[in-house]
Amino acid sequence: ANFMRVIVDAAAPGLEHHRGSDLLCVVRALLKKIRRRVLVGDRVLVGAVDWADRRGMIEDVFERRSEVADPPVANVDRLVVLFSLDQPRPEPATLTRFLVEAESTGIPFVLVFNKVELVDEQTITYWRDRLKSWGYDPLFLSVDQQSGFAALEEMLEGQTTVVVGPSGVGKSSLINALRHNQNISEEDPIHKLLEQNSKWFGEQRVGTVSKKSGKGKHTTRHVSLLPVAGGGFLADTPGFNQPSLLKVTKQSLAETFPEIRKMLKENEPSKCLFNDCVHLGEHGCVVKGDWERYPYYLQMLDEIKIRETIQ
Ligand code: GDP
Ligand code: ZN
Repeated sequence: ANFMRVIVDAAAPGLEHHRGSDLLCVVRALLKKIRRRVLVGDRVLVGAVDWADRRGMIEDVFERRSEVADPPVANVDRLVVLFSLDQPRPEPATLTRFLVEAESTGIPFVLVFNKVELVDEQTITYWRDRLKSWGYDPLFLSVDQQSGFAALEEMLEGQTTVVVGPSGVGKSSLINALRHNQNISEEDPIHKLLEQNSKWFGEQRVGTVSKKSGKGKHTTRHVSLLPVAGGGFLADTPGFNQPSLLKVTKQSLAETFPEIRKMLKENEPSKCLFNDCVHLGEHGCVVKGDWERYPYYLQMLDEIKIRETIQ
């Protein structure tokens, strides 16, 4: 069976003193039958509680504010889009891809540059100014030197956060650093209970072989939320390191570029002549092509057009 750890934040009259405690829960079979998946981060209704044994059963899942597919986490409040200033250096095209993917989730995000100690002050200023011209205000820090954390930690307060970014930029290092700033007790009885009772805890990836085909190995990712300072949570598994752009359409792509949003706003109340304008220099288009990332916009538009044609 799969177990999930559920933190109690509300309880029936007379049971209020259980708030803040946690329960080891199984998911009700009926929920699985109707294909209601319970994700980490979900708010759930728990029944059949044995308070002495700290066990219960998840009976229902409440509506989600947001959902991230990779890693699978519900009710995410913020993404941290992590890059490094060196090893590897930021690639404008890759950066743009991640920013577009992050924008397309609709979840607020902060862009963070790691490894500041590897570069000089000029390089930091260069990237700050360049990102500003794109419409972003990034944070700069060093996980190795434990510097520049204050602003980020302030943002994580009370939020559920997922770290995304390309490989090698320090995502795992950042997650570990934020975790080590905390005192999570390995002695907590629920941790032990989970370790004894399921493969789910303490193991991030479990490969399973599909029974239907007998081949086609697919990987189930298991993710947990770590408590951080100020009552927030951080997913222990980093997210999309290869943006798929699958949620972005020909029409919605423009909305993921702050530069285009700004141009459209500045021209209000006049708009592009055609409602379905994709800003390729069509007649009556108010979006000009004289900005740095316009070539990336065009490339991505092409990619999406091809995908939409195939589908
Ligand atoms: P991930 O692939 O994004 O999860 O990156 P990792 O956390 O595995 O880090 C990749 C490499 O970058 C490792 O060798 C880390 O030790 C290194 N690294 C992480 N943070 C820093 C930093 O602030 N400065 C430097 N110089 N190296 C770092
Ligand atoms: Zn237009």
